[in-house]
Amino acid sequence: MTETAEKPVENRAFEADVAKLLHLMVHSVYSDKDVFLRELVSNAADACEKLRFEAIENPSLLGDDPKPHITISADEESRRLTIEDNGVGMSRDEMIEALGTIARSGTKAFMDRLEAAQGKEGAQLIGQFGVGFYSAFMVADRVQVFSRRAGADGAWVWSSDGKGEYSVAPAATDEAPTRGAKVVLHLMEDAKSYAERWTLERIVKAQSGHVPVPISLVEKPG
Ligand code: ADP
Ligand code: MG
Repeated sequence: MTETAEKPVENRAFEADVAKLLHLMVHSVYSDKDVFLRELVSNAADACEKLRFEAIENPSLLGDDPKPHITISADEESRRLTIEDNGVGMSRDEMIEALGTIARSGTKAFMDRLEAAQGKEGAQLIGQFGVGFYSAFMVADRVQVFSRRAGADGAWVWSSDGKGEYSVAPAATDEAPTRGAKVVLHLMEDAKSYAERWTLERIVKAQSGHVPVPISLVEKPG
């Protein structure tokens, strides 16, 4: 039996701490929202590095696509911003674990400090405490993650408005990456500049210059 046949669309509640964290992040980190892009690019690069590591023992995971890459694409009209990588990706269970729970012990301390923090300091805390993914909800009112784990057949889509619940469902083949993850941000009206090419260029240059994986910027989402 395939994973898809066993598990159709499922709605789940975020772990209580995630819901609280999301609320705090959206409401107290109001300056320097640019950091969300650094966080998503760094996750994409981490995923490429994880794949490289797994491929040492299992080279077939690389298939005919051995070179890591990250593609950022945007469409101003639909206010969509997409960050795609061909890294290790996530299985359905990995998505639920990685994007719906907080396994890290430092999170409580982070939340206490974030609650007290103002503006820029709060944004720095996001990086320090490694709660990067959720920073997407500072600029997006819906985030989708399409993913196919290296070596797996099925692809999945995780989707949330960051307000307490998320869904996980089988992804259509044409929407999911062949391998890796594709994070789609539906930008809020007041964050629509993040779909502009020059804005993205500026942020990538300023924040992600050190990333060891090539990054390309393209005009429209794939
Ligand atoms: P951290 O990067 O510190 O672990 P994040 O909140 O940035 O925390 O990401 C949470 C987890 O989600 C990651 O550890 C990883 O397991 C998973 N994840 C996020 N983005 C990706 C991606 N592009 N590819 C694969 N896994 C990802
Ligand atoms: Mg991260």
